[in-house]
Amino acid sequence: MGEFDLIRRHLSGLGAPRADVAVGVGDDGAVVRPPPGRELVLTTDLLLEGVHFLPGTDPEALGWRALAVSLSDLAAMGAEPAWATLVLSLPAADEAWLAAFARGLDACARVHGVALVGGDTVRGPLAAGAQLCGLVPEGAALRRLGARPGDVLCVTGTLGDAAAGLALARGGLAGLAPEHEAHLRARLERPAPRVAAGLAARGLARAAIDVSDGLLADLGHLLEADGLGARVETAALPRSEALAAVPPARRLAWQLGGGDDYELLLAVAPSRLAALEEAVRATGTPLTVIGRVEAEPGVRCVDAAGRPVEPPAAGWDHFARDGDGA
Ligand code: ADP
Ligand code: MG
Repeated sequence: MGEFDLIRRHLSGLGAPRADVAVGVGDDGAVVRPPPGRELVLTTDLLLEGVHFLPGTDPEALGWRALAVSLSDLAAMGAEPAWATLVLSLPAADEAWLAAFARGLDACARVHGVALVGGDTVRGPLAAGAQLCGLVPEGAALRRLGARPGDVLCVTGTLGDAAAGLALARGGLAGLAPEHEAHLRARLERPAPRVAAGLAARGLARAAIDVSDGLLADLGHLLEADGLGARVETAALPRSEALAAVPPARRLAWQLGGGDDYELLLAVAPSRLAALEEAVRATGTPLTVIGRVEAEPGVRCVDAAGRPVEPPAAGWDHFARDGDGA
């Protein structure tokens, strides 16, 4: 048996068993049966060692994350995850590494009802990417487009944790309690895509995006779609207990500019805010109001009294770079 046959063996039958998979791993292509009346939502993300994850990352965490980042895109579209394929580039066929990677991917796939139906494996620099296919009723997908002036901006969960987790992993953050360190590391390594919240927001939120590049950057993308601006109340930004122990300026920089949190940012008409809060919180997902959409382009950060807050450098640089379309 060749080494890549071994790889295929490890990657067969992963994820949730689904009755709508007619042909899975083992043929030239997978065959699936979408239910009538549904549209397919397709998305892909690639994680490259040294760019999207640190060399030496735990393979089980990487397997989880490879799927989780694409699931977050489906969440932002309000799609129900269904099928995935996996592209894997490996420097060597290390069986223990592969078994751990498969365990992590399988766990994440099962949580979200995803079947792994195929993929491709090559020898090369370490990289992993999942292509995901989700389902939505016709015309019901959430979009970045659609916010209007006066809409309320809400975010799920907490912000800045993954950036703090990265600082920890690089040895640039010290003095936290062990349970807080563990929380921040887990937020970086095993993001929990907000799939249930995205489904709950369908039909209620007017626009949605997942926060993968940092709040200001992703808010910028959402507003850009309609040529709008926003006011963000920095004191309202949700933070974990772990992040509360970090000095305020650093914390705010991570909350505004830190990537990889994989929370959802939603714009909702004021008249539907209560319904959205109820629907999202019913999924066990925290939801926090952080600001408002305004007609004037640009993002204005303000404190609780409405006074302007200059975003700390890290957050602002990130925003400026993305805002320039670079
Ligand atoms: P082909 O050469 O026809 O593209 P491959 O030899 O690449 O086929 O793959 C054989 C089977 O193994 C296919 O069903 C493919 O989907 C599956 N496969 C290959 N790599 C992966 C992977 N990384 N994850 C899941 N399935 C994979
Ligand atoms: Mg073939």
